Amino acid sequence: MEKHFETRSIRIQNKQTENREHSVPLYLTSSFTFENTEQGRALFADEVEGNIYSRFSNPNTSEFVEKMAQLEHTEDGFAFATGMAAIFSGFGALLQSGDHVLACRSLFGSTHQLLTKVLAKWGITHTYVDAEKPDEWEKAIQKNTKMIFVETPSNPGLELIDLEWLGKLKKKHNVVLNVDNCFATPYLQTPADFGADLITHSATKFIDGQGRVLGGVIVGRKDLMKEIRFFARHTGPALSPFNAWLLSKSLETLAVRMERHCENAFALAQYLEKQSAVEKVKYPFLPSHPQYVLAKKQMKRGGGIVTFVVEGGFERAKRFIDAIELLSITANLGDTRTTVTHPASTTHAKLTEEERRHVGIVPGLIRISVGLEHIDDIIADIEQALKKSK
Ligand SMILES: *Cc1c(COP(=O)(O)O)cnc(C)c1O
Repeated sequence: MEKHFETRSIRIQNKQTENREHSVPLYLTSSFTFENTEQGRALFADEVEGNIYSRFSNPNTSEFVEKMAQLEHTEDGFAFATGMAAIFSGFGALLQSGDHVLACRSLFGSTHQLLTKVLAKWGITHTYVDAEKPDEWEKAIQKNTKMIFVETPSNPGLELIDLEWLGKLKKKHNVVLNVDNCFATPYLQTPADFGADLITHSATKFIDGQGRVLGGVIVGRKDLMKEIRFFARHTGPALSPFNAWLLSKSLETLAVRMERHCENAFALAQYLEKQSAVEKVKYPFLPSHPQYVLAKKQMKRGGGIVTFVVEGGFERAKRFIDAIELLSITANLGDTRTTVTHPASTTHAKLTEEERRHVGIVPGLIRISVGLEHIDDIIADIEQALKKSK
């Protein structure tokens, strides 16, 4: 029988060395030596597997990648210094001038900049489609569409895309489906089960989960990973062994952390729905979420992010955030510490007013990444800030 998620995230690890250490050692080495010329030749010729240089592979990054690949139900992977390095390398390795990308409109801010400013320079075009209008997707697929890139749930709109439906669409049109699974993590959803070819992560968020390091990873189909590995090996976005060592350890506690993130987030969402100063609350597992049924179908729990719109627009949102005492005012998410973000003035400030409106980022929108503090203390801080901001 295949072992459970919790067990795999702990027990997939490098073989012990002769020292019989219980915790995997850290390999701070830039290169590895060859037994002789013949072995060096065979390694470079890809005839045997082994480490050559830490830009290509390192025992710590390999352990982290193997764990991620298995937790995401895929075959292979590569780890990157940041989530954006992973996203860029997925595009860079698989797309060429003249290709087209279909993407959901609600995307992480830097991914949007990549598509609109960087890939555009090289003649790679894109079309945005709305998550909640699936009819438009098929019409937007062109002859030169090579990749569909989506986030579900999206940031900060918390819009969902039906992965089962999308898996069928991508199969029909024979395009690569690449899912940014950062918000859900493999604990809550595994897009490969629905036919996703690549799953991309910012490991900086829930995977590290403690706001310490940056990291990214792509896992997926072996043939595609071969091209991504080639691109990464020669462009140099590799994850550092130290960060890989930390991230592999972080995965050991992902399941218990996600359970508590979700429990706290759901409780906060329910509390916010009852507040008269709150116009709208969004959380995938609240029955009021427009895609509640889909959320229940494809996610194990609702995730750690809650968004709400405070009445009174930008001025009230600003007063609310400035009145926060315990929680952290920051743009990051997926931390043990609850974080409070004002997307319109920070993470999504580079979008035009029109682009923001299109993805639901109104001036009064507040995003909470619900941490692991006691839920009563999280709610107490939000309650006092709501009162003070009146
Ligand atoms: C943070 C984030 C990224 C970028 O990851 P970095 O590690 O900051 O480079 C990409 N996608 C989503 C959904 C994110 O939240």
